[in-house]
Amino acid sequence: MSFIDGESRWQISLLPACVDDYVAADALVRIVDAFVTSLDLTELGFNRVVAAATGRPGFQPGDMLRLYIWGYLNQVRSSRHLERACVRDLEALWLMRRLAPDYRTIAAFRHDNPEAIVAASAAFVQFCREQGLVGGRIVAVDGTKMRAVASPKNIAGAERLARDIEHTEKEVAYYLDRLDIIDETVAQGSDDQPLHRETFATAIASLKRRKDRLVRRQQELEHREEKVLVFGEPEAKPMGYGRAPKMPSYNLQSVVDVESGLIVHHDVYNDANDSHMLYPVSVAAKKVLEVDQIQVLTDGGYSNAEEIARCEREGIAVAAPIKRGAMNSDHFRPAQFVYDSASDTIRCPAGETLRPSGLHTRNRAIRYRTPACANCSLKPRCTPGAQRTIHRLVDQGALDRMEARIYANPSLMTIRRCTVEHPFGTIKRMSGGGRFLTRGLRAVKAEAALSILAFNILHAVNAFGASAMMPS
Ligand code: SF4
Repeated sequence: MSFIDGESRWQISLLPACVDDYVAADALVRIVDAFVTSLDLTELGFNRVVAAATGRPGFQPGDMLRLYIWGYLNQVRSSRHLERACVRDLEALWLMRRLAPDYRTIAAFRHDNPEAIVAASAAFVQFCREQGLVGGRIVAVDGTKMRAVASPKNIAGAERLARDIEHTEKEVAYYLDRLDIIDETVAQGSDDQPLHRETFATAIASLKRRKDRLVRRQQELEHREEKVLVFGEPEAKPMGYGRAPKMPSYNLQSVVDVESGLIVHHDVYNDANDSHMLYPVSVAAKKVLEVDQIQVLTDGGYSNAEEIARCEREGIAVAAPIKRGAMNSDHFRPAQFVYDSASDTIRCPAGETLRPSGLHTRNRAIRYRTPACANCSLKPRCTPGAQRTIHRLVDQGALDRMEARIYANPSLMTIRRCTVEHPFGTIKRMSGGGRFLTRGLRAVKAEAALSILAFNILHAVNAFGASAMMPS
């Protein structure tokens, strides 16, 4: 038996002489190259598409976009890593035609062209639509939290800042006391105190700098609407991951086409609450797909009657599990009260009629009551109070219609889960476990667009083959 042995390092012609031979004919990098070549970079809004008449020649924006898309596909996202890849990765060498921009130039491209990068990501979806790869009848909506470039230690509100300042002041006072004791000891002739004095003086200076920073944060917070701020990355927000402590994060929303599995629309928000995002992302997806009617599958976090009703008015049929409050088993459940749309009344288990008696504005609900409760024999089973009140949402009709859609096709929720959850897994794997590298919402949107574009290219090639992805 012997081992497989490598070639000699001094063998001539280790690599093919032609750069094009460096990558396989069906390599993903060729799709990236062909896709960027097909783009109208001026129309997409990239800077410096036309070379300046004077000055040092710059890199073409198309080359920088190629490098970034290839990087996000290969989990090489930082500008320093991309700089290194340009000189030691064969695919990058091929893609960049041996150009080797430095990391500042690479980072500046992403920083200066966020909107254009988002437009390039959308252009790939349009390309797939034109190739007939996108179904566009049913889509699934979901969101995930992506970590911002900030430590959870930088999350602070007024209360915590005041507490930290007080603690810092106590520490300063402690060291000042120690200095006084040293002064007294030195006066008594001890010779080992100067060293401690210097150490304590350094500690006091450091604590005073810390206090100044906390005071500056306090002042900054006073001028903001938010009660809690992520210092260093103020556009990020503390967002929860289940029971884990809140982390500075952004909320990435995506709309996935059920038929193709491609992400047809996405956006990044700095609001953790999904319940207000159903309408904007659904309408945006409908616009991208250029259809009159669309079905949107989503989870209970988006089950907001007002948003669902707005979607209905736009030709968007939502299917999401309805969130129900805790039920008191000792009393009649709300489902036992039957609504009659013709008379706008509710019939209770005793056969009495509950009528509208006012608006519960905060929840956009209508109260229904009946005076018959006063003499009702079923009252102990109905309410512990003087009168039973049923709240019906103003947009309850939209929720009822949505529930009917789910009853008619119970597999919709399974389709949603299978469609929308795995792209996040792939995107998070490609983006260091779901962490952005840039600061600020604008830059983060560009990063998200690159991640989504990389996912879409990868998914499209896997699903439809490399030949279907080559622009004609
Ligand atoms: S208490 Fe009122 S609402 Fe409840 S069953 Fe009796 S009449 Fe109907």
